[in-house]
Amino acid sequence: MNVGVLALQGAFIEHERILRRLGQQVTQVRLPEHLDTVDRLIIPGGESTTIGKLLVAYKLLEPIRERAQREMPIWGTCAGMILLAKQITEGRPAGQPALALMDIVARRNAFGRQLDSFEADLAVEGVAGEPFRAVFIRAPLIDAAGPTVEPLATLDDGRIVAARQGRLLATAFHPELTDDARLHELFLDL
Ligand code: GLN
Repeated sequence: MNVGVLALQGAFIEHERILRRLGQQVTQVRLPEHLDTVDRLIIPGGESTTIGKLLVAYKLLEPIRERAQREMPIWGTCAGMILLAKQITEGRPAGQPALALMDIVARRNAFGRQLDSFEADLAVEGVAGEPFRAVFIRAPLIDAAGPTVEPLATLDDGRIVAARQGRLLATAFHPELTDDARLHELFLDL
């Protein structure tokens, strides 16, 4: 399998490191031709407004949408999740580009500012064994999800922080910043 990691901005190196540890071939996706060679794609955390602008500048927005329509699995973490969401409730500058593929409503910076970053142990559907240590950095939330979206993890108060819709996976936290590769394995199994 050749796993693409969108490498325009944000925490792409960390995803690449875990994927290589799992024995995967990895391609950093910066141009449309890189996309042609990959079987699936990770959109990393970072700054969703910046990544959105760069997706347009590097002519990747439409090609990624097209591949998604042809069933390529995509996983968005944090900012990547915001870019996957069909709707963004807060802090979306007018005309802000997004992939808008997944039937979820994402709320940006749902927990406040950088200082309000935190970690939590989560039970994740499809991830066996002990809870997953989730790192939230200026993280978004899933405020609402359509009928075909399966919530995979919630905080203690019930708010959704991971979900799946067919071959689309979204996590509000950063699984690439821990040593735990179980969510990467889940994505590789989609
Ligand atoms: N707050 C960032 C955004 O809105 C996301 C933060 C992250 O990816 N860790 O894009």
